[in-house]
Amino acid sequence: MKEIPLYIHIPFCRNKCSYCAFYSCINHSQDIEGRFIDELKKQISSYMTLTVSDTCNTLYIGGGTPSLLKNDNLKDLLNFLERYIGSNLQEFTIECNPEDINNEFIGLLNESSVNRISLGVQSFSDHVLKASGRIANSKSVDKAINCIRESWKGRFSIDIISGLPGQTAEGQKKDIEKAVNSGVDHISCYSLIIEENTPFSDDPKLLEDREDEDLLWDICRKALLRRGFEHYEISNFCKKGCESAHNLQYWKMNQYIGCGPGAVSMTGIDGIQRISNPHDLNVYLKGSSVNWSVQVEDISVKDFIFENYMMGLRTASGIDRREFHRRFSRYPEDFINMTILSSPEKTFKLTDKTLSLSENARLFMNSILMKISDELETLKIDFPVHWP
Ligand code: SF4
Repeated sequence: MKEIPLYIHIPFCRNKCSYCAFYSCINHSQDIEGRFIDELKKQISSYMTLTVSDTCNTLYIGGGTPSLLKNDNLKDLLNFLERYIGSNLQEFTIECNPEDINNEFIGLLNESSVNRISLGVQSFSDHVLKASGRIANSKSVDKAINCIRESWKGRFSIDIISGLPGQTAEGQKKDIEKAVNSGVDHISCYSLIIEENTPFSDDPKLLEDREDEDLLWDICRKALLRRGFEHYEISNFCKKGCESAHNLQYWKMNQYIGCGPGAVSMTGIDGIQRISNPHDLNVYLKGSSVNWSVQVEDISVKDFIFENYMMGLRTASGIDRREFHRRFSRYPEDFINMTILSSPEKTFKLTDKTLSLSENARLFMNSILMKISDELETLKIDFPVHWP
C-alpha cells in the first residue's frame, strides 16, 4: 500500500488582500466552481495513478479560500477524497477564512475526514485588518473562533502575520495573546513580506511608516515561547506533539502531489522533478494538467541535496541522518564538513539521529545556507540517489 501527501489548491477568493501574491480569482461564477471541482477530481485521480499511490497519508486543502466553496461543491470534493483516505491518515487540513465559519460549515467538516482547521486570522485589530484589505474584522474573527471552539471536533491552527501596516509592538503582543487564548494547538506566524505586484508593493509610503518588522516578529516568538509553544520551524509554533504533519512532509523533502491551479508537485517518477500547474484557471479547466504535461523542472542531484539542507534545517528536529544516508549513501554532515567546522561553536547539533541548527542559528540561517551552497559546488556526484 503506497501513500503520498496531497495538496489541493482552491483558486477562489472574495477579494484580494493587499499583501497576497498567491494565484486566485475573484467574482467567479457557480458554474466555474462546479467545472473546477470536476477538473480537480480528474487531476487528483490521474496523479494518484501516475505516482502509483493508493492513499494519502496527509492532505491539505489550501488556497485561495477553500471555505468559500459552495457547501455542495465542498461536500462533493470531500466525498470524492474519501477513496484516498486509508487507516494511516495522519492529518487532513482545510484552510478557512473567519467570515465563512458558521455551524453548518463546521457540521459539514465534522462529518468528513478533515481533522484540522487552519484559520487565516492574520490580526485581531480592526485597523490592521482593514489596512491589509482583509474582509474579516475583529468581531467576525471572534465569532469564528467561538464557533470552532463550541462545535469543531478536530485540531485547530491560526495564522498570524507580524509587521502588517498599522501594527504596533503592543498590538502585536495582544494578537499573540488572543491567538493563544483561543485554545489553538498550533500558530503559524509569518513576518510580512512585501511581494511584487501586490497593492502593498505599489505603496512605498507604507513601508516607511512600518514599525521594525524584525522587532515585531521577535515579540511574537518570545510571547509564544513564554506561553509554552515550541518553535519547531522558522515560522511555526505548536503545543507538544501538534506539528503540522503535512508541512513536515515538505520540510523532509518527501515526494508529494499538488492539484489545482497554483499547486506544485515534487516527484521522482522520471528523475527528480518539480511539476507546476498553470496559474490560470481557464487553462487549467482545459485539462492540461491531467496528463502530467504542465511545466516540468528537472532538479539536478546537487540542487536536490541543497534543498534537503535548506528545508530540513528550517525545523528544530533537523535532518534525519538515516533517511539522508538512504537517499545519498552519506550522512548530512559528510557533505558540509567545512561549513560545520568554520561556524561558531554550537551552530550545528549532531546526534545519533539528526543534524540540526540551534534555535539561535535558525534565526540567521541564510548565511549558513550560502556557505552550504558554496561547499556543495565542489561535490562530485559519484553515488546513486534513492528517492523517493
Ligand atoms: S490572503 Fe488568502 S484570502 Fe487573501 S487574497 Fe490571498 S489567498 Fe485570498
